[in-house]
Amino acid sequence: MADRPDLPAGPPPRRRSRCVMVGGVAVGGDAPIVVQSMTNTDTADVFATAAQCAQLARAGSEIVRVTVDTREAAAAVPKIRERLLAMNVDVPLVGDFHFNGHKLLTEVPACAEALDKLRINPGNVGKGARRDEQFAQIVAIACQYGKPVRIGVNWGSLDQQLLARIMDDNARRAEPKDATGIMHEAMVSSALESAARAEELGLARDAIVLSCKMSGVQDLIAVYRDLAARCEYPLHLGLTEAGMGSKGIVASTAALAVLLQEGIGDTIRVSLTPEPGGDRTREVTVAQEILQTMGLRAFLPLVAACPGCGRTTSTTFQELAQDIQGYVRDKMPEWKLARVGVEHMTLAVMGCVVNGPGESKHASLGISLPGNGEEPVAPVYADGERLTTLRGADIAAEFKNIIDDYIARKYPLRNAP
Ligand code: SF4
Repeated sequence: MADRPDLPAGPPPRRRSRCVMVGGVAVGGDAPIVVQSMTNTDTADVFATAAQCAQLARAGSEIVRVTVDTREAAAAVPKIRERLLAMNVDVPLVGDFHFNGHKLLTEVPACAEALDKLRINPGNVGKGARRDEQFAQIVAIACQYGKPVRIGVNWGSLDQQLLARIMDDNARRAEPKDATGIMHEAMVSSALESAARAEELGLARDAIVLSCKMSGVQDLIAVYRDLAARCEYPLHLGLTEAGMGSKGIVASTAALAVLLQEGIGDTIRVSLTPEPGGDRTREVTVAQEILQTMGLRAFLPLVAACPGCGRTTSTTFQELAQDIQGYVRDKMPEWKLARVGVEHMTLAVMGCVVNGPGESKHASLGISLPGNGEEPVAPVYADGERLTTLRGADIAAEFKNIIDDYIARKYPLRNAP
């Protein structure tokens, strides 16, 4: 067989980008890829919005964006900030402005002051001469209050004048692009031209983040590859309108994983539609899981579990896997405060002897339950060595004790002398 070239293990280095400070959080440069999310409460409802910001931040969102669409919403922003601080939550807040951002920020300066970043959609700033004037007004406010700006293009609200100009230019080309190519070019041009204009107006280069969100996976990948090659602004990645449930998760993961693997992306958001009454923090969990399963960041111990099969006819194995996953998520805030490095721990919960011991040995801690017809014992492995064997009805509780002991032995206390 012919020799194959060595394939790289792991993602290549991140694309070079400038570092933008959003409140106390660095985005771009050498900073870790930042997880962010967005509230879906009425921003004018201070209590509900502050509560959801806190919930998202506690779930791991490092930046939270809120809609600012009315004077009431703008007036609520400083109160939301105060309430969050009273709850001991110091998460950077981003205001999402469309159509009337220039007006709201001018009329309610305390809103601009309380925010850590302004998001402008160049397609929704205004039309004609008013577009330039209103864009300049927002940039002037960002400069006055020292706030960074995300120029967030969205294909659902692409600047129609710019699109028309690009179509005209395209028609004059010897080899015109197709409609998809024109759309991609218009997305990237809208972001880059708006960023150039913001700089001309006085906004610092290291106060600009760009995004070009689309809802098609291949479209998003194509647009971000182009954008990444043409600038050094940090890039916010996200598949817009990803959808509900598994479709939203799969589509977002497919798109983001390709780009992240190419070193593209400094901050991510997973735009999931929650089920009615569903949990908004799901988008944070999914974003963290994308980054952690790709080996780009570590947030909490990963639990590997086999899918189960005909060798596991009882539900004991599924219940244990779910129980351990829940235990890790619930205990992580406490572990993280007390111990250094616990997020790198790996766990395996396996259903039978076929792959159980092998997978368990690769994990920090692993347990292999008995499959059908196997002796009713569950060997436990720690760092590849057999540690003990559990049996009986209390396996879950005993395995949790083993996890606690392992953490106490393995991960040093924070601020230990
Ligand atoms: S480890 Fe055992 S129970 Fe799990 S999928 Fe493989 S064969 Fe089935």
